[in-house]
Amino acid sequence: MQMTVLGRYGTAPAKDGACSGYYIEYKNKKILIDCGNGVVSRLQHFCKIEELDYIILSHVHFDHMADLHLIKYVLDTKKYYGEEINKIPLFLPKPEQDDEVYDDNLFDITYIQDDTIINIDDLTVSFKKMVHLIDSYGVCIESERFKFVYSGDTGYTDDLVDLAKDADLFLCEGTIVKKRDDIPMNHHLSVEEACRISNLANCKRLLLTHLWFESKIEDYIEEAGKYSSNFSLAREMDTYIL
Ligand SMILES: [Zn+2]
Repeated sequence: MQMTVLGRYGTAPAKDGACSGYYIEYKNKKILIDCGNGVVSRLQHFCKIEELDYIILSHVHFDHMADLHLIKYVLDTKKYYGEEINKIPLFLPKPEQDDEVYDDNLFDITYIQDDTIINIDDLTVSFKKMVHLIDSYGVCIESERFKFVYSGDTGYTDDLVDLAKDADLFLCEGTIVKKRDDIPMNHHLSVEEACRISNLANCKRLLLTHLWFESKIEDYIEEAGKYSSNFSLAREMDTYIL
């Protein structure tokens, strides 16, 4: 399985960067996890939009789904010009508000719950609800040979330790370099918390992502180095092989 980081920023993209988006290829299946600002541009290095076999949204904050609006425009326009476009299976937590972007003429929509399973060839995709401002799910993709886990957006929760247990690659948000004692923040992880979860879960490799666009990369690296010996920062357009 190949996982390419299309965008690694939370809230807003840094200069020339993109918000959350991870492109997975496995035995000719094309899977997009999250679709934040800038993802559609980067995705085209790998496939056409309509070639996606699955789109999975961890949650529906804009930094994880804004470019789904563009995917809708693309699919609508191609259909208008007579192209035969298949519905793309779209998995997401049930949004609190209706939005025309979730168009069931274009997407085959499934609302994610804790017991949702997607079988893709010999891969099993499963989910666990995390702790965030709206419903947000961690994603686990595993086969007999490997396990990949993505946190989505979350505060600290033992459920993420469970989900990430023994992962070969743990893609985890570590939004905040260091939390401030005077400002409570329970819906995102600090670098220290991400490292702690990875260590408790015995993950082989931690990939920190969902970086705050104005924080310094050196600060993330310095902070993570205090708590983890097997971390790296997600790098946009780098491909990780499992
Ligand atoms: Zn986010």
